[in-house]
Amino acid sequence: MTQHSEVLPVTGGDLVSDDWLQRYTAAIMPTYGVPQRVLVRGDGAYVWDADGRRYLDLLGGIATNALGHAHPTLVGAVTAQLSTLGHVSNFFASAPQVALAERLLQLLAAPAGSKVFFGNSGAEANEGAFKVARRTGRPTILALEGGFHGRTLGALALTHKPAYREPFEPLPGGVVHLPFGDLGALEAALVGDAGQHVAALVVEAVQGEGGVRPLPPGYLAAARRLTTAAGALLVVDEVQTGVGRTGAWFAHTRHGVVPDVVTLAKGLGGGVPIGAVVTLGERASTLLGAGQHGSTFGGNPVSAAAALATLHVIERDDLLRQATEVGAHLVRGVEGLGHPLVQGVRGEGLLLGIQLTRPVAAQVVVAALEAGVVMNAVAPEVVRLAPPLVLTHQQADEFLAVLPHALDVATAPTDGRDD
Ligand code: PLP
Repeated sequence: MTQHSEVLPVTGGDLVSDDWLQRYTAAIMPTYGVPQRVLVRGDGAYVWDADGRRYLDLLGGIATNALGHAHPTLVGAVTAQLSTLGHVSNFFASAPQVALAERLLQLLAAPAGSKVFFGNSGAEANEGAFKVARRTGRPTILALEGGFHGRTLGALALTHKPAYREPFEPLPGGVVHLPFGDLGALEAALVGDAGQHVAALVVEAVQGEGGVRPLPPGYLAAARRLTTAAGALLVVDEVQTGVGRTGAWFAHTRHGVVPDVVTLAKGLGGGVPIGAVVTLGERASTLLGAGQHGSTFGGNPVSAAAALATLHVIERDDLLRQATEVGAHLVRGVEGLGHPLVQGVRGEGLLLGIQLTRPVAAQVVVAALEAGVVMNAVAPEVVRLAPPLVLTHQQADEFLAVLPHALDVATAPTDGRDD
């Protein structure tokens, strides 16, 4: 392995946040709005900004930095792989790609004939699932109101939010959005003649971007029963919920179902870009044939090595248990504050939504950031926590100590804009 010590300079390395933000605004497309801070480094569950301030990171790159920042095992795996074989075309196989596919199939207890396709992101994983669904030859794809599946055109067609979709219409056709959690609507769409036109139903077990909303008990099991009866595929988008986020390897397993397709990204690479489409069983796994899908970076050995390292640490360090316990501690702690602005906490494991009694989530997030905690307002009245799975009880307590102040600041009478 070659040793490299040279560190390439970033022009203006001594600039502070304001300077970087000016340069950002001048050079980066404005799709994300103005960033809250400029981050320069991270360690475990903490990040530091360009002005040297430390923050407890309860967002983890939006459910992505599963192992926190700069985890030595992840850094070691990526460094070793990049120093050995950084990229190959898909005319060739690489060991990390194959080992990762096998590991995912094992973790999913995949039935015989199951297969994996690797891409680079969640949207791409859902594009792959969309193409699998199209290959059934049936025209309709069902998805849920409130669902989020990504910003590329196929994934956007599955996504519900009109503000995201409308500027880009016409989108790929055939997608019908059903009311969230409504079993009657699901039955009407899948039973009888209607069901014969349905290629797939695409759902998240817990809607992440939709406000951390778990599917009601029994919904996913009914979805499995109804899609099977109709000959349609059940696609579970585990991009946000997968890889330990909810305290289980995959959120759908809690519902006792085996989907036909599972899509993954975010936490899978622990912060290194990777996405995966897993087809479970022979039928779903034979729908995409040779030459019908591809990606230059799909199965990239460095990304695959990162994912293998992430899965390894989650298992070795019992992070599913930790996510479950620390998540429960957070729920108890937040609800136990008895703050009038907190209606309750929903979600599973370390994917939590603090539901507020008023639509002031953005103000709570700003106040928390000022106090040194990173969170996100996923809806006007919901603050999302999706911290690294390595978050400790003690770090959760740091947050619980800061939260009342952030809630107070957000409720303090100002100029009335928060109502
Ligand atoms: N699916 C779900 C459930 C997501 O939460 C997201 C991102 O938030 C996506 C898909 C899109 O993933 P990406 O941003 O990697 O394209």
